[in-house]
Amino acid sequence: MTVLGKHTFHIRSAEVISVGTELLVGQTTDTNARFLSGQLTELGISTFRHTVVGDNGSRMEAAILRALQENDLVVTTGGLGPTSDDLTAEVVATIADLPLVEDPAVRQALEARYPDKSRYDFSSYPRLPQGAKVFMNDQGTAPGSLVFFNQKDQQKAILMLPGPPDEMEPMFLRHVRPFLDSFSQNRFVHRYVRLFGIGESKAEEKIRDLIDHQKEVTIAPYASMSEVVIRVSQRMEPGESDRTQAVVDELRERFGQDIFEVGSRPLEQVVLDHLIAEQLTLATAESCTAGLAASTLASLPGASRVLLGGLITYSNEMKMKLLGLSRKLLTTAGPVSCPVAIAMAEGCRRRTGADLALSFTGLAGPDGGTGDLPVGTVWIACARAGGATSARKYHFPGDRERVRIRAVYTGLDLLRRLLNTQ
Ligand code: ATP
Ligand code: MG
Repeated sequence: MTVLGKHTFHIRSAEVISVGTELLVGQTTDTNARFLSGQLTELGISTFRHTVVGDNGSRMEAAILRALQENDLVVTTGGLGPTSDDLTAEVVATIADLPLVEDPAVRQALEARYPDKSRYDFSSYPRLPQGAKVFMNDQGTAPGSLVFFNQKDQQKAILMLPGPPDEMEPMFLRHVRPFLDSFSQNRFVHRYVRLFGIGESKAEEKIRDLIDHQKEVTIAPYASMSEVVIRVSQRMEPGESDRTQAVVDELRERFGQDIFEVGSRPLEQVVLDHLIAEQLTLATAESCTAGLAASTLASLPGASRVLLGGLITYSNEMKMKLLGLSRKLLTTAGPVSCPVAIAMAEGCRRRTGADLALSFTGLAGPDGGTGDLPVGTVWIACARAGGATSARKYHFPGDRERVRIRAVYTGLDLLRRLLNTQ
């Protein structure tokens, strides 16, 4: 085997191959690929592909050979145990043209840890490609290993890791990562610019020119129900400087108030932090969201410093009893209306004594929509101590769940904008 010094072999790209028929039949979710991609990214190694292959020697061999054509490193997980369907080490030894040998040091360590000979037999275990760098498994039996070899005059490496995530993840973090680190010279810088109040396609349109002309710094938008995130990334070669800041500044210029965070905090955290800093309290009056707004804030540590509580007033009766709305208002304006949203927010603020109150009333569907009030219509209002109550009508497309989640984040965003412009 050629163990190559850290200054001669640089790992730039990798493919992760998850081995296991259970992954292909839908029994297990491939969480290992996700974990490993995140780790490799942190080490400055690009993952070019994820592959899943069953416990089948020839298909595994074909997958690894193809991955080696495109990458310096192939990482496999699974199929390392002692049973007959565990074929990874055998296949890798064939590819690297190395004999499979027993490792007495690992065997002794395993025998010391599992002394009960009637239950454990390590007499011919583990078998590893000769010369492999071995990583101990602190949680189980199958060790990990890294083999280096030459293929058509090119340096290659295959890293074999066990399948169970509770064995693989600690092994990677404790033993593999510090070792692998010296083979990577690059680093990625990722910055996350988070927006609310603008759709993904609109956001992309505004930065089309930046995306079209991206070079060292790449820009990629990504949308979920609670935000649009623009990832600004740079792969830094040794000696290169960080050029992401200029792009982030340009995004700030273009998106202004729609940006709620440059970093990792979700919208609810940004709002909560702001309320804590300003020593403001909040309560919610929720009809169609039925507690989801309060619950979204309460999922964060420290919410008790801000959130006094919430009133779930789904029916007209409860809106009258708990929030003090009049029957007349509910019948003349209708429960999904501007005056009702305002009365809910103001009633909630009065009855709870909070500095701020957010209210939600709308039609989450799927039934009950009319021409004037289609499904997805939601009125959101925010009442403030010593200030005017703001209310806005929204229309959220999608199913019930989507309408409710979008309503909550829109309410939080409304609050954020009110606080920023105070
Ligand atoms: P063992 O010594 O346990 O046999 P192994 O390396 O042979 O380890 P596998 O037999 O391939 O691992 O997988 C064991 C279990 O680990 C699977 O049944 C599955 O629950 C889990 N597992 C395997 N691969 C993955 C993966 N990619 N993502 C998430 N879980 C996985
Ligand atoms: Mg196994």
